[in-house]
Amino acid sequence: MIITNAKLGYSIPDESWGDKNIISPELVSKVDAYCRFLGTKIFVTKNGGTQGFHKADWHWKGMAVDFIPEILIQKRMTLFDCYIAAMRFKLGGVGVYAHWKYNGEITGGLHFDVRPEAHTATWFGVLINGKQEYIAANLENFRKYGIA
Ligand SMILES: [Zn+2]
Repeated sequence: MIITNAKLGYSIPDESWGDKNIISPELVSKVDAYCRFLGTKIFVTKNGGTQGFHKADWHWKGMAVDFIPEILIQKRMTLFDCYIAAMRFKLGGVGVYAHWKYNGEITGGLHFDVRPEAHTATWFGVLINGKQEYIAANLENFRKYGIA
């Protein structure tokens, strides 16, 4: 499937998606619905599509994407609210990353995937001693890292 501007109403398709031929139509549909709901474009992070080095292989299968919503860059919405809004789209997995940067500025960002799960898997990626670690996406951890 080729991702075009016509198919993605709000998001910005670019080479960061990786191999567009294997990107899941369900993933594109959910990302697009999320963008329309929030009224934002997204920026797929470097190697945030089918390429790069990732914790899980959902990226390699074209079933996951890492991105930064433009509304975070514009500071029109918090990362916490972007995360909560993601829950209405019945994704297979939602990761939240408070330390991701856009043009050198910390904005935070999200991982979406469409793995087949009855309940959305969630996690919080944080930097601990310079290394990205995965902890529970819960209020205690969100408060500890300043996103709630
Ligand atoms: Zn990811």
